[in-house]
Amino acid sequence: MDRLLLLIIPVCILLLSGALVGCWLGTQRRHSYLLWTASSYALVGSALAWQSLLSQNELHRWAVVTGVMYLYGAWCFARGMADYYGVSAHPRLALPIGAVVLVALYHYSQVDPNLWIRLHWLNAGLGLLQILPARGILRRKPPSGWLELAMYWSYVLFSLNTCIRPLLSLALALGSLEVKASSFSAYWQLTLAVTLLFSLLFALLLLAITVRDAITALRAERNHDPLTNLLNRRAFQEAAEHSLGNLQPGPWTLLMGDIDYFKHINDTWGHAQGDRVLQAVARAMLQQVREGDMVARFGGEEFVLLLRTDTKNAERVAQRIRNQLREDGAMLTPGESITISFGIAPVTHPAQLAHALSFADGLLYEAKLAGRDRVHVAPTAWGALTGP
Ligand code: GH3
Ligand code: MG
Ligand code: MG
Repeated sequence: MDRLLLLIIPVCILLLSGALVGCWLGTQRRHSYLLWTASSYALVGSALAWQSLLSQNELHRWAVVTGVMYLYGAWCFARGMADYYGVSAHPRLALPIGAVVLVALYHYSQVDPNLWIRLHWLNAGLGLLQILPARGILRRKPPSGWLELAMYWSYVLFSLNTCIRPLLSLALALGSLEVKASSFSAYWQLTLAVTLLFSLLFALLLLAITVRDAITALRAERNHDPLTNLLNRRAFQEAAEHSLGNLQPGPWTLLMGDIDYFKHINDTWGHAQGDRVLQAVARAMLQQVREGDMVARFGGEEFVLLLRTDTKNAERVAQRIRNQLREDGAMLTPGESITISFGIAPVTHPAQLAHALSFADGLLYEAKLAGRDRVHVAPTAWGALTGP
């Protein structure tokens, strides 16, 4: 019965492994660290389950096989952490460490069986394998998000634990602590409990980080235009209403821009080049605005900007965008340049966004009628303010 109770912890670790595999599949197999950690849990969970059922004699007999499972499991965990942090798990160092420990396990199980000395060798090997990526991880700049911080400090704690465990087993191996059957069983239960605690901690952190990243990616996908990575129409409207509603000090000005003769660009240079032009326009817009301003692709070749400035400065921004595009000669053949027309309207009240949008749209339409490649500004001056 006691033995079956001991199985509870390994089974929990195996279930965590299954959860991590599910998560890895759910994220389109993108995060290799989930699979490495899941493999580590599967190997260590199986080895623990198996050993929990073995008698002392059988433990000797299977020591090398279970040793391989623990050692490879430990390295898989190190590899998972290394992949998560983008550092190396030093497989070339791991191999000789594993080989030396396996030779020792063979000697102290088949030639001169000694459970404690074997345990010490195994602990030393596991400790070394697990902290292989530690130098790379600890040298990275400290993380900022709270989940990343929790992960970082859990890893530090785990590394400390892996360094202390060999010392404990060395003390036991040298006989400075009372060595008898009951101390082994206490040691074994402590090992299981600590392993479960860390497995649970890392699994929960990895799952939480994966779920959070998936939600962030979904939100970004939902809010952004995939071609230019600018805000899409709906996200722009939400963000603009939020900024205006929070009454962030204005003035605010809305710019509506539309690339001139874009159909001609597509027809002459092809749709792929048309896409590159759209990306160049998006880049130019982002380069000319300040932090806190908003740039969106409303659809097709139509762009909307909400700038935290007055109409006079907004007009300067529009001119800078036009100049940058005109100078971007690499886009089309010499002599031809990308031109864009703008309508500019102030947003005088948070509830007036829709009105400002249709106002700017009207001005843009006028700019097109007036010959394109120009900026029409309201309300101080109606009509063409600037030409090419
Ligand atoms: P105007 O100067 O009056 O704005 O003329 P225009 O040719 O720019 O405008 P029109 O509305 O006639 O044509 C817009 C074209 O934009 C038609 C459409 O096929 C193209 N378009 C819309 N979305 C995309 C896109 O994502 N990529 C590319 N390459 N073309 C697009
Ligand atoms: Mg156009
Ligand atoms: Mg258009």
